[in-house]
Amino acid sequence: MPHPFPTISKQKQPQAWAITPNSQALGQLAKGIWDCAVQTGSRPLVVLSTAGPLIGVRAALEQNRPKDLPHSIAFLPQVISFTDWLEAAPGAWKFPKKQTDLERWLSVFVNLRKHKVLQSWFKAESEAGAWGLAQAVVDACDSLSEVVVPQLQSELNALLQTHTLDTEAWLKKVELVLDQAVAKAYVGLSRNVVDEESAVLLTFWRYLTNIGDPVIRKHLAMAAQMQLAKANAEKDRTTVRPFIWVQTADPKPIDQELIDAYLQDYAQFATVVRVDLDWQSVALWPEALCGLDVDGHIAVANSQEDSQIESNIQSHRQADWRLLAARRFEELAWAATKSIESHLIAGKKNIALVAQDRLAARRARALLSRLGSALQIRDETGWKLSTTRAAAAFDIYLEIIRAPKEGPSASALLEFLQNPYFDISCSLNQAPEVCIGLIARLEDILIASQAKSGWETFTMAIERANSYATSNGGSPNPLLINLIKFVRRLHTGWQQSMVDCSSAYVLLEKNLQEIGMFQRLEKDAAGKQLLEALKGFDLSSGVYKELKMRLPEWLSLLKTVIEGASYEEVGKEAQATLSILPLSSTRLRQFDAVVLVGCDEQQLPAFSEPPLFFSDTLNRYLKSSTIAAQYVQQARDLSQLLVSCKNVDLLWQSKSKSGEPLRPSAWIQRLQAKLKDWRVIDAKPELYEGKSQPIAMSVSTPDQNLAIPVTVSPSAYKALRDCPYRYYVSSLLGLRKVKEFDEGFDASLAGQTLHALLKTFFQALKTEEAKSHAPIHQGIAARRQWMIDHLMQCSEKEFERLIAGDARVLGTLRDWQKQIPSFIDWQIERENQGWRYHDAELPIGFILSLTDPDGVQRDIRIAGRADRFDIHDSDSTAAAVIDYKNQKMKKIVDRSENILDDPQLLIYARAADESAIAAHLPGRTVGQAQWITLKAELDKGEDKNIRAHAIEDMPNAMAQFSEQIEKDLNSLWARKPMRAFAPDSICQYCEARGVCRKGMW
Ligand code: SF4
Repeated sequence: MPHPFPTISKQKQPQAWAITPNSQALGQLAKGIWDCAVQTGSRPLVVLSTAGPLIGVRAALEQNRPKDLPHSIAFLPQVISFTDWLEAAPGAWKFPKKQTDLERWLSVFVNLRKHKVLQSWFKAESEAGAWGLAQAVVDACDSLSEVVVPQLQSELNALLQTHTLDTEAWLKKVELVLDQAVAKAYVGLSRNVVDEESAVLLTFWRYLTNIGDPVIRKHLAMAAQMQLAKANAEKDRTTVRPFIWVQTADPKPIDQELIDAYLQDYAQFATVVRVDLDWQSVALWPEALCGLDVDGHIAVANSQEDSQIESNIQSHRQADWRLLAARRFEELAWAATKSIESHLIAGKKNIALVAQDRLAARRARALLSRLGSALQIRDETGWKLSTTRAAAAFDIYLEIIRAPKEGPSASALLEFLQNPYFDISCSLNQAPEVCIGLIARLEDILIASQAKSGWETFTMAIERANSYATSNGGSPNPLLINLIKFVRRLHTGWQQSMVDCSSAYVLLEKNLQEIGMFQRLEKDAAGKQLLEALKGFDLSSGVYKELKMRLPEWLSLLKTVIEGASYEEVGKEAQATLSILPLSSTRLRQFDAVVLVGCDEQQLPAFSEPPLFFSDTLNRYLKSSTIAAQYVQQARDLSQLLVSCKNVDLLWQSKSKSGEPLRPSAWIQRLQAKLKDWRVIDAKPELYEGKSQPIAMSVSTPDQNLAIPVTVSPSAYKALRDCPYRYYVSSLLGLRKVKEFDEGFDASLAGQTLHALLKTFFQALKTEEAKSHAPIHQGIAARRQWMIDHLMQCSEKEFERLIAGDARVLGTLRDWQKQIPSFIDWQIERENQGWRYHDAELPIGFILSLTDPDGVQRDIRIAGRADRFDIHDSDSTAAAVIDYKNQKMKKIVDRSENILDDPQLLIYARAADESAIAAHLPGRTVGQAQWITLKAELDKGEDKNIRAHAIEDMPNAMAQFSEQIEKDLNSLWARKPMRAFAPDSICQYCEARGVCRKGMW
């Protein structure tokens, strides 16, 4: 039975009223408020303890507006949440400046530095951990203040009466009173805390508490409201509006005390009605009915209360309460989606998805997004700003500024440049068309040269690519160097050991403007909110503007703030609305259907993270929230939800991740015990049947319109020999795997450097030989020493920049320098056989003419770059080709066994023979081809040939190769089927594996 609204009495006491939190609760409340307006003849002020039901109450007031109201109360009664009411306190602008969360964390930071006792306690914390701790300290200090500050209420009231005269003096007085109270309370509280943790916290509290704290502001605002009511009442009591306080959720004991005292005082000046929720006919479990006892423990129900519960369960049982169990996570999300879909099909327009299991709710949301704009999804669970694309882009920018001084990794750099909020044309101050493809080009260069980290390394890789393009008829791109310089400048700007808070913000903002990210974030809903969150870091007008901290500390603070910020989606009009919300947000709200996901015993009830510092007992002492109070509150929320809504689906995952069975929440099991016919439905995904064809070996016939390259490099020809299908995918279709950078440093750029330095060295050797009195002519030993010294110096010089980019390259240099004496010995031995270095790094090729099936003559150029050519001193027709390999000899020997499948040296030999002038070898024939390892196993002994391996029977190999390449290219141009066929050793590293599906057939 609903309680009738009380008759307003003249007694200066708050009047109590209770509403039943069922589906008629809002209507009942609205009628009561109007009743109050009619009885008092004035427009009441309604303050709700939580903001959730605000819109619902206003709508209910509109619906229940009595007819023929006198003019004085015709306006809708003012309904406001407690927080808004505090903000609207008269003269709130004169209150001490509100401290932001950030400022409060910084004050923890400052105190940590100031007080040795605190430092010793927190020294082990990492940056991120320290900020997390700062948040916990601030929260805990608020709990302590909540207990102490009410004792100050009368002083605050007294001070408020005078504060109009001199705000500064008044603030000083408030501060003084607060200090005295804190000092007094400290003594009392420290008697009650025995452990070190709480003692440290108390010390913090002593240092941190100040008049800008939210708890103090709350009390000041309440006192100001009270002052106003008093002042008005002194003039004319009838002008003070009736005050209706609606307690929408169980308050913490400390809040309860505070509001009780407040209502009592307020009743001296105006009509006060306190509205509570009456669980008598709504509670489905004894704890929801009886709540907590005086000691804060869950009260035990008596037999009368038990039978009340029994009757509540039976009377509220709805046929449309469904219990759905899904075995796996995906099935759970799927079942939740299907439930929501079924409600939408049934014409329900306002649906709630209660996210006890936040992950499953998120997944269901993703599945529902295919319904498009017809369904508006409002996520009230606090979508984290850090999960948005805008925050991810900002995070990538932070990665760049926190990179070590040598520079970031190539993957971090590319990720930064490729993020959609980076504006390359704004950064380089160039027209957008000029910048098209620039980042893709940079990626190609960095991947091809395996330049994995460091500004110097990136610059070298680009310079090499540009100079190669210049010498091979391509076009170098100077903008690439500018791009690296630009990002490097941003990075260098942050290379200071300490940053001060205000200039760090200025630099951050400047950077964001320069890279165009600021402008792009402003155009994006999440981006705008991110910029708003960042604005909090503008401490230029506060006390912390000169506070200095290490860059990692500042960056970690930045991340902590973004991590804590919520993203609010902009709502759009739609045919139906789905609200994703926590259980507590369903209080006193109306929904056509509710889907509660995550009703297993582990997630329902769900308790908030226990505070870091206080035990449950201490919480009880501090009259704060306890586990028992949260338990009762959730039992009440769930009762209210089930009783108020006809269509409720309760879903849970019946098997945990580890495969253990999971039961539904104990509350559901207890209901099941009373409702025998309430059965669990197994939520199984719908199965669709179909027959699939077994996959056969991949074979492709090149389409007539598919262009076949007219230039073939040695590596492309090797790919064709290894596996025609692989060639088809990589060279004909041009598909390329997005390559990632392996861990470790860039071997390939080091390889290129080795080749380059060897060329420089041999050119210098030639020059030295031309000088008649050079020490090089003073016998073998002197020549050897000169060569070793010179090659050592040459190596140091060429590696210098690489090492500046990535210090790990030093190891490679040292490894190579160990090889130098043995390499020189091999060179001298070779010279003794009459061979002389002739040229290196020479682009070279030959033409193969063939006629395709359409009778068209095709000239195919087989071309590459030969590492080195030698000529013979005494035989004017002899030449040799050499390929340096950064591999062990064993691999080289294996390679030589399949020379026809990897005929790189044969290609160079034929090219040199057919274009002797281009190869600078007129009149000579290449009769010798060798691989030289630059990674010889020195410990294998000097008697063995550890450095060179030659192709045997060159003439025969050349003949076979020429016949084979002609045959292969003829088949290619005939567009014959190209089969995926290769030994596992090749497939293992093949990029086309995902296309040919090797392993599936
Ligand atoms: S995985 Fe093996 S069979 Fe498949 S394309 Fe690559 S090399 Fe050929």
